[in-house]
Amino acid sequence: THFGFETVPEAEKAKRVYKVFENVAEKYDIMNDAMSLGIHRLWKDMLLHVMHPQPGARLLDVAGGTGDISFRFLDYVYHQQERQKRRALGSSQTLSWQDISEKYPAEDAPHESNSVVCDINKEMLKVGKQRADSMGITSGLSWVVGDAEELPFDDDQFDIYTIAFGIRNVTHIDQALQEAFRVLKPGGRFMCLEFSKVTNPVLARLYDAYSFQVIPVLGEVIAGDWKSYQYLVESIRNFPDQEEFKGMIEDAGFCSVQYFNFTGGVVALHSGFKL
Ligand code: SAM
Repeated sequence: THFGFETVPEAEKAKRVYKVFENVAEKYDIMNDAMSLGIHRLWKDMLLHVMHPQPGARLLDVAGGTGDISFRFLDYVYHQQERQKRRALGSSQTLSWQDISEKYPAEDAPHESNSVVCDINKEMLKVGKQRADSMGITSGLSWVVGDAEELPFDDDQFDIYTIAFGIRNVTHIDQALQEAFRVLKPGGRFMCLEFSKVTNPVLARLYDAYSFQVIPVLGEVIAGDWKSYQYLVESIRNFPDQEEFKGMIEDAGFCSVQYFNFTGGVVALHSGFKL
């Protein structure tokens, strides 16, 4: 009720969300660091730590925006692969990286991992692609415009589905969850990072003050865009809490649904399996 965004009719929401991310795309990465004091990096690292993907895994990163999750995924899998090669070669200490890559050239990798970044907003993807180019990432990554509620992929395609700070922007969450279920392979894992409910009352008051008083000001100062960041805060408040969201994931058919709170519940990681 602070800003009245929740009175926006359903049909309007998608349009507003599109405008918000179109406006902030260029400044998105800088704003993330500024607003979270860099902590979003740790939350994303934690997601990868829990995911622990193995070489060969295929990831679909929905609402993937500028690619943060996919970059981490490819990096993690790469290092995992190098560790496994070293182990396979036995004497891990005496071999140089060069020896390893000569004996096991990348093309020989039995299953190349890859990641698909899917986002409804082409401006966000554009910034992501530029980042990939500047990092020299040439393979294992693709960028697809698509709606979480109606994914442009066949059934049973992916080992892991991620959606990080994206699902609260989706108009019909249940629809997005059903789509996640559909495109995952049997045995595949759904993982969602999202702002959630802070449990500690003292932290909750601090967090409220920060969200409503600092965030829109930062939005105005850095991106010249107060309204988009008002929307951000409001959308966080309107999102279901940990237990309610867990129930929604179960309703979509996922098993062994669990969640982990990060930073006292500022963010929660939900996970579930398609069996
Ligand atoms: N996952 C990235 C990250 O963690 O940095 C980006 C998160 S950003 C806060 C939210 C993203 O969700 C935006 O890029 C936006 O375009 C996208 N989005 C919003 N609604 C969507 C939908 N219905 N389908 C797919 N993506 C959507």
